[in-house]
Amino acid sequence: MNKQEIIDILSDSAKNDWLFNKADCIRHENVGDEVHLRGLIEFSNICKCQCKYCGLRSPNKKIERYRLSKDEIILTAKNAVNLGYKTIVLQSGEDDYYNTDRMCEIIREIKKNDVALTLSIGEKTFDEYKAFKDAGADRYLLRIETTDKNLYERMHPNASYENRIQCLYNLKSLGYETGTGCLVGLPKQTVESLADDILFFKELDADMVGIGPFIPHEQTPLKDDDKGDFWLALKVMALTRINLPNINIPATTAMETINPNGRIIALNSGANVVMPNVTNQEYRAKYEIYPGKICINDNPEKCRGCIEGKIKAIGRTISKEYGFRNS
Ligand code: SAH
Repeated sequence: MNKQEIIDILSDSAKNDWLFNKADCIRHENVGDEVHLRGLIEFSNICKCQCKYCGLRSPNKKIERYRLSKDEIILTAKNAVNLGYKTIVLQSGEDDYYNTDRMCEIIREIKKNDVALTLSIGEKTFDEYKAFKDAGADRYLLRIETTDKNLYERMHPNASYENRIQCLYNLKSLGYETGTGCLVGLPKQTVESLADDILFFKELDADMVGIGPFIPHEQTPLKDDDKGDFWLALKVMALTRINLPNINIPATTAMETINPNGRIIALNSGANVVMPNVTNQEYRAKYEIYPGKICINDNPEKCRGCIEGKIKAIGRTISKEYGFRNS
């Protein structure tokens, strides 16, 4: 699709049902009916960044910070593997305590299990990304958040839009399966820029794309802004499926946070991945990137059983594979 076609669909709610059905068909034809589950470990909420939308931003003094030890991370991963996960995702704020040596040790230990490993730990240098890859990391998630450069710069004080893009191309060139994505509903974000986001995913040839609505957090400068619209986020996701037919697309936690059935609706509108939380219950509430996050009082066993039941109820199956793109 060209930019104008994408804009027309995003601007016309009469086309919603057609769009969601079309994305569901393309998902079925290209990646099948299996749903890949990725076990998400939120291992540190300490962050040096100041992203205006995020509750983990360093100026937020009202959040209790935590950091899992190396052994806790490795044990959490092992438990997730025992629950049947074939991919572990390590996510955190940009926490420099986990320097290259520490990260590489954790990566090597986790990769001793029969599991694929995804990192989501922010912007690093080429050499750092290379070291993680050499240690065994398979995939990396780094959302561009928005391709509107002005909006990007307003949302990310002291950060560089060019560097974020460079990071993504570095990850691609190092052979990572590279994930990106955007927030939908940021203040003053336009439909035109959302169309550009989708074209950017295509240009990068992203292997995974995560889309979620913006949810305002009380301890951030955006606390009084409106939350993103669930249906608009779903449309961006469905259009991403149509334009990148064979990639992996998660039904995101943020979708479920603003719509109680959000992940299942997303799975029926182009998504083929879910990332259940496998972090121990005591830390979950503290990883508050946005308020109202689901499953904060649950444990890894409960989350696995709960999502498996919902997926089977819509006639889909849980994959036993690693779930690489094109596999
Ligand atoms: N530090 C890592 C992980 C960030 S958290 C990194 O930079 O990639 C993962 C994602 O949560 C972010 O990429 C962002 O898109 C999303 N997020 C953060 N704050 C949010 C909010 N208030 N509402 C919705 N999504 C949010």
